[in-house]
Amino acid sequence: MRGEKAVIVDASEESITLAASMLKAGRIVGVPTETVYGLAADASNAEAVARVFAIKGRPAGLPLIVHLDVGASIAAWALDVPDDAFRLASRFWPGPLTLVLRRDPSVLTAVTGGLDTVALRMPAHPVAQRLLAVFGGGLAAPSANRFGRVSPTTAHDVFADLGGEVDLVVDGGPCEVGIESTIVAFDGGEVTILRAGATSPGEIAGVLGRQVRTVTGGLVESPVRAPGMLESHYAPDTPLELCAPHEAELRGAELTSSGLRFGMLSLGGVSAQGAAVVWDAGGDIAVLARSLYRWLREADVQALDLVVVALPPDEGLGVAIRDRLQRAARRSKSP
Ligand code: AMP
Ligand code: MG
Repeated sequence: MRGEKAVIVDASEESITLAASMLKAGRIVGVPTETVYGLAADASNAEAVARVFAIKGRPAGLPLIVHLDVGASIAAWALDVPDDAFRLASRFWPGPLTLVLRRDPSVLTAVTGGLDTVALRMPAHPVAQRLLAVFGGGLAAPSANRFGRVSPTTAHDVFADLGGEVDLVVDGGPCEVGIESTIVAFDGGEVTILRAGATSPGEIAGVLGRQVRTVTGGLVESPVRAPGMLESHYAPDTPLELCAPHEAELRGAELTSSGLRFGMLSLGGVSAQGAAVVWDAGGDIAVLARSLYRWLREADVQALDLVVVALPPDEGLGVAIRDRLQRAARRSKSP
């Protein structure tokens, strides 16, 4: 199948058995999770993992997340697991939280990018879980998009980005959450959010009984520990202009008179007169998270000159959404 177009299959038991056997054979499979679609390889097969990097165009040295079956033991993958990690795992797994832990020596260097840590997550999507159970091991998977671009939230997105190179895509429907997992690291008793994501800082603080530090602003640490920390990432071709909701309406009026074809994207309640396309989440932050990447992809399909984005409040899921939009906008050229 290599070199030919990938096949999209439904999420039947038969397809999952096929996907598991292909993964065992070192093939690369697009897999649905509740966050975004992953580009999965057998985490114990160095050649397969190398191929994931090649397919994504991802620089070597940037580590992958290992996805585990709910029945798996963290102890097989990580050493000296702090109590805080167990507390977070018991509250949020399976779910959109990734724990960065000291790696067990058995974990492949290709997976950890040569770091002494490994990133682990138990995904909540029933298809991902069924596949992990049938496969019977860890699946190393970054998001199934080309490096730096918008993450895929449907099987079709994976196919559109990587169809020629991935061996199979399992269609588990559109992703429920729609943005990536929160990545948390543990350093000498301190808990740090390396990448904002679908599990909010407030939820994490609630479980730990204290505030947690978030690493923001891109390349603040060296070496870069998560590509999600790169200043420019998650970017469509269409330029994005981020502003507060009240500014968005003014900007829309200005653009209307300038004759540019623009889109207006918001959590809701922003008047978008003159916009060629309007994306409105109806005031529901979960809908905004679930729809965001699809809308950014639509902006490219529509070949808009510009998208004006009214930023959601900086709380709950809004923290991660703003983070993604800020990184997506940094890539933008002016129209
Ligand atoms: P992606 O799904 O493409 O966004 O990539 C997975 C994310 O997990 C990236 O941001 C990785 O850098 C991050 N990650 C994986 N392993 C580690 C690790 N050991 N330390 C820090 N971040 C990690
Ligand atoms: Mg990614």
